[in-house]
Amino acid sequence: MLQQTRVATVIPYYLRFLRCFPDLKSLSLASLDEVLALWSGLGYYSRGRNLYKTARLIVSDHHGIFPQKIEVIQQFPGIGRSTAAAIEVFAYGKRCAILDGNVKRVLVRYFGMEGYPGEKKTEVLLWKKAEELLPKNNVRGNIEAYSQALMDLGATLCTRTKPKCIVCPIQRECVAFREHREDKLPIPRPCKPLLVKETVMLMIIRRSEILLERRPLTGIWGGLWCLPEMPANENVFLYCTQRFGIKIKLLAHMPSIDHTFTHFKLRIYPRSLQVVSQISKISQSGQIWISFTGALEAAIPTPVRNLLNSSCFLK
Ligand code: SF4
Repeated sequence: MLQQTRVATVIPYYLRFLRCFPDLKSLSLASLDEVLALWSGLGYYSRGRNLYKTARLIVSDHHGIFPQKIEVIQQFPGIGRSTAAAIEVFAYGKRCAILDGNVKRVLVRYFGMEGYPGEKKTEVLLWKKAEELLPKNNVRGNIEAYSQALMDLGATLCTRTKPKCIVCPIQRECVAFREHREDKLPIPRPCKPLLVKETVMLMIIRRSEILLERRPLTGIWGGLWCLPEMPANENVFLYCTQRFGIKIKLLAHMPSIDHTFTHFKLRIYPRSLQVVSQISKISQSGQIWISFTGALEAAIPTPVRNLLNSSCFLK
């Protein structure tokens, strides 16, 4: 949950998740829908899907016991080199180097490194430095203390903006501080204009229910329930007749909303529509008619939740 997300945001999700799934076994027995419903609003849903897959793999292939070997841990979906190392350090007290976003920033500044940390070349160098810096002996849990300290330094003092160098315990050796470059490093991601994609989201209402469709498991919002979408250049009346076999009346063109993903921006044009009559039966799997309350409790992405909340006058 903490990958790409701040601790304060994660806490309520984490507590709710652990209340429902206190151990690997209970998580492995859940349905993907239940897992994604608890993830709804947190974003980066592949993390939820990967966690679920990993729990099932550990139960089926490892007798429900979390493995200890880093090579095995790293094979699980969603667990990269740094997360696997963090598990080794904090769960098993092993001597491994971690390199999360905060640690990268500290090392880049400390060594005055010029490359963009997301670049392969710089990342290879960062891993090398992270390994060289590890305490040689792992006595009395000093690797754990060292790793925690490094992460805390990045989270509390060597922050992205306005680092608190004046109270930093490693300022004497820090190249960025010495050269007054702490606010210039790390250099930002090379700027590329964000691609804008457009879609029309259909809020199709039949009596007091709304139509939701499950998205494919791969791609954005994989496995989540979503409002049906239509290409922006299609005729909405024709589209609804051909796709759902219904005649509709347009209730409102709602204002467009933008939702930003890592690599593109999605501009959503919402249309609220009411079913006037069912012309033909076109049954498609992965579609449900559901009450607004039920929809809000389902695994839905944030823009859909916002749209449902903003259209409460239609309930
Ligand atoms: S001195 Fe400043 S830039 Fe250097 S590690 Fe400490 S907080 Fe970061």
